[in-house]
Amino acid sequence: MAEEGSFKESPILIAGPCSAETREQVLQTAAGLASLPVRYFRAGVWKPRTRPGAFEGAGVLALDWLAEVKATYHLPVAVEVADATHVEAALWRGIDAVWIGARTTVNPFAVQQLADALKGAPVQVMVKNPVIPDVDLWLGGIERLERAGFADVWAIHRGFPNYGGASPYRNPPSWAVPIELRRRRPDVTLICDPSHISGVRNGIESISQKALNLGFEGLMIETHPDPDAALSDAAQQVTPARLEDIWKQLVVRQRSCKDENLETIRGQLDAVDAEIIHLLGRRADLSRQIGELKKNLGLTAYQPERWREILKTRSEWAQKHQLEPEEITALFQLIHLSSVKKQLRILGR
Ligand code: PEP
Ligand code: MN
Repeated sequence: MAEEGSFKESPILIAGPCSAETREQVLQTAAGLASLPVRYFRAGVWKPRTRPGAFEGAGVLALDWLAEVKATYHLPVAVEVADATHVEAALWRGIDAVWIGARTTVNPFAVQQLADALKGAPVQVMVKNPVIPDVDLWLGGIERLERAGFADVWAIHRGFPNYGGASPYRNPPSWAVPIELRRRRPDVTLICDPSHISGVRNGIESISQKALNLGFEGLMIETHPDPDAALSDAAQQVTPARLEDIWKQLVVRQRSCKDENLETIRGQLDAVDAEIIHLLGRRADLSRQIGELKKNLGLTAYQPERWREILKTRSEWAQKHQLEPEEITALFQLIHLSSVKKQLRILGR
């Protein structure tokens, strides 16, 4: 459980193959992970594939391989469950943790069915973010499990599908979504899944570090003894040896601390924010005056020419101050919209 202000020595590590393919592959992966502090050995046994005809997992048979991992390597084991029959089979084989996949979290009926089936089971439950970036839907999944009696549900951030294809990520992280989840539920443990975010193995390390820099408590990383030969998600899996390298490189940061310099600069920042709010208030006054004039002149509230000019000049000014033009544009879109709304109220009178 994530506590505000606590400092965790070592992040939670969940590792193992995307899919359990054969008994040998599963045991070989587990053997390779022996020197790492793996909290749960993960493996998908029922695989949600986008198109039919791809490898859909080895099914219940693979649960026996996981039972063997548990017995031989003393590693707790985790699988994805998508319906009540999966839950029943997993619990019967002594699986220690289950996660709800991104394609299931979008469906409250399915999540409720899983919560009912899991009720009272001695397992760790985890909920991946839904495939749409809706923090309420993600929280809703967590709450359904909490209502079924799970007091410590973990959230797994695996990014959001990249419609349009312009992103370097398989599932762009949209960090604002897990940041908002944390703001609303600081008590929920956050695990990052850099494998599904990146889609390629050389992106895993930097995404993992970014998640730790943001204060995530753990990482779920897909691991395969021969990644290129994997039957699912070949491009994004790493060998256990590579995972060990990544793990050694990661820097874990403190969640909070008392520091005089930090406090001083934060005080200055508060003063700047107060000034920004004061200026926004002045801007709103001017905008209302313009609204009155537009009313008398019979002008529309929205003036596209003027808005184009504002966007152009503000993004030029932003560059002079080493600010990102796209961020300043986004900020002014909000400011301008608020201005137009004020003027619409005046014109509407
Ligand atoms: C997985 O973890 O292998 C998986 C299918 O993940 P997701 O639900 O995030 O696509
Ligand atoms: Mn996968």
